[in-house]
Amino acid sequence: MVSPGSGRKAWTAHVATWEAFTDGRKYGWGSKQSLSNRGPAIFATDLQLSESEKCYSPTKRGKRMTNRTLIAIVGGGIGGLAAAASLLRAGFNVQVFEQAKALSEIGAGINIGPNASRVLHRLGIAEELGKAGVKPVTFDQRRWDNGRVLLRSQLGEAVETAFKAPYYTLHRGDLHRALTSAFPAERIHLEHRFTDLRDRGDHVEAQFENGASISVDALIGADGIHSAVRHSLFGAEKPRFTGCVAHRGLVPSNRLTHLGLEPRIQIWMGPGRHFTHYFVSAGRQVNFVAISEEDTWLRESWVDRGEVSDVLNAFAGWHDQVLSIIDAADETYKWALFDRAPLPRWSVGRVTLLGDSCHPMLPFMGQGAAQAIVDAATLKGCLLKFPSDVPAALRHYEHLRIPRASRLQRMSEANKTRFHLADGQSQRERDAQMARGTTDWSLAAIAWLYEHDAEVVDGS
Ligand code: FAD
Repeated sequence: MVSPGSGRKAWTAHVATWEAFTDGRKYGWGSKQSLSNRGPAIFATDLQLSESEKCYSPTKRGKRMTNRTLIAIVGGGIGGLAAAASLLRAGFNVQVFEQAKALSEIGAGINIGPNASRVLHRLGIAEELGKAGVKPVTFDQRRWDNGRVLLRSQLGEAVETAFKAPYYTLHRGDLHRALTSAFPAERIHLEHRFTDLRDRGDHVEAQFENGASISVDALIGADGIHSAVRHSLFGAEKPRFTGCVAHRGLVPSNRLTHLGLEPRIQIWMGPGRHFTHYFVSAGRQVNFVAISEEDTWLRESWVDRGEVSDVLNAFAGWHDQVLSIIDAADETYKWALFDRAPLPRWSVGRVTLLGDSCHPMLPFMGQGAAQAIVDAATLKGCLLKFPSDVPAALRHYEHLRIPRASRLQRMSEANKTRFHLADGQSQRERDAQMARGTTDWSLAAIAWLYEHDAEVVDGS
C-alpha cells in the first residue's frame, strides 16, 4: 500500500491510490484493469488540469495545505457532495467514492433552511437555487379536518432579514444538479462500494468491493443511514423502524389552480398521521409527503411505488384540500422511516462520519439533509483550523456538531408524537401552546438553529 507522503509514486500493480497535482501532473481515474485483475486501478496520466478544475481554485487560507491533505469521501448523496465541494474550494485534495452506477436524486421535495442555504450559497450555487427553488412566505400548521390554522410562522423575507439567508423548498433533483455543478465529475468514482478500512495512524487505507483500494490522510463516511463506514468504526447496530411510512408525490401546479394555493409550507396534523405540501421547481410542481403510522411497509427506497388510492384511504375524512392534492397525483412512492439514537462519538483517528451516517432523523424538522450540509461546513472549518493534525480536527468537528445534531434528532422524534395527537386533552394543550407561539417553529424559538454559522469553528 502506498501511503501519502513525499516521493509519491502513486500506484502499484494491484493497489490503487491517487494523488493530484503534487508534481504538476494530474493523476486520474480510469478504466485500466490492475495487473492482478482485482478491479480498476487508479493510474497516473500526464493530463493537465481541466478547465473545469481550474475554476476550483483554493481559497487563500486553504493554500497552506493545498493538494497535500488527501481526503476520501464515501457516498455521493447531498451530504457527501456538499462536503466534497466545501473541502475542494478550501484547497483540499478530495475524491468521492459512490457505490451507485450514476449519481441521481429522484423526484421529491426538500426544505433547506437558512442554516444550510448559507453554506450552499458560499459554494457558489445561490443563482441555481434561486432559479429552481421557491421561497415560501410562511409555515402553517393546520388542523386535519377543518383546516384551522393553529400556528403561522414567518419564513420568506422575515427569515432572510433575520438570518441573512433564505429558506428554500426545492426539488431534490435541482439541489443535486446544483451541487454536482460545484464539484468536478472526474473526482467522483462511481461503482465504488466501500467495504472496509484500516487506520494506520499516519494514514487510512480503504477497500472497495470492486477490488480497488486507496490510501488517504482522512476518510469521511457520508454513506447514509446504513453506513458501512460507521459499521467499520463502531460495529454492527441496526437502525430502528419508527413505525411511520412516508408516501410522497409530485403534482403539476396547474392541476391545483382551483385550490388557490399560496407559496406557504402547509402541514396538516391529525390522529396518527400528518400531511405536508409545498411548491418546488420554481412553482411548477407541488410536492407532498403524507406520513402515516403503519407497520405494513419496511423498505427504504426513493423508487418503491405506492398506490394513490392507499394514500386516499389512509387520509379518508381529512380536509378537502388534502384529499384534492393526493387525488391529483399520477403516482406515489413510499418509504419506511428509520432512525437511530444519537451517537456519543462520530470520529476515530483519521476517520469520521457526516449526514445520515451519524445522525439519521425523522424528517419532522425538515433538517436531515440540512444537517449534513452544515456538517460539511464545520468539517471544512476544523480541517483548516488544525492543518497538520487530522485527528484533532475531527475531534473538534464532532465536539461542535454532536450536541446540535443530537438535539435535532430528539426534536424530530418528539414531533412524531406532537403532530399525530388524537383529538383530546393533549391535542388541545398543543394547540394552545401553538396559539401562544411558544413552539419550536416560532422565529424566536428556532433562532438557535437558523442563525448558526457552521463555518465558525473557534468556539468551544
Ligand atoms: P444519503 O442521501 O443516504 O446518501 C448516501 C450516499 O452514500 C448514497 O448515494 C449511497 O448510494 C452511498 N453509499 C451508501 N453505502 C455506500 C458504500 N458502502 N460505498 C459507497 N457509497 C455508498 N432533509 C431535509 O433537510 N429537509 C427535508 O425537507 C427533508 N425531507 C425528507 C423527507 C423524507 C420523506 C425523507 C425520507 C427524508 C427527508 N429528509 C429531509 C432527510 C434527507 O433526505 C436525508 O437526511 C439526506 O438525504 C441524507 O443525506 P446523506 O448524504 O447523509 O445520505
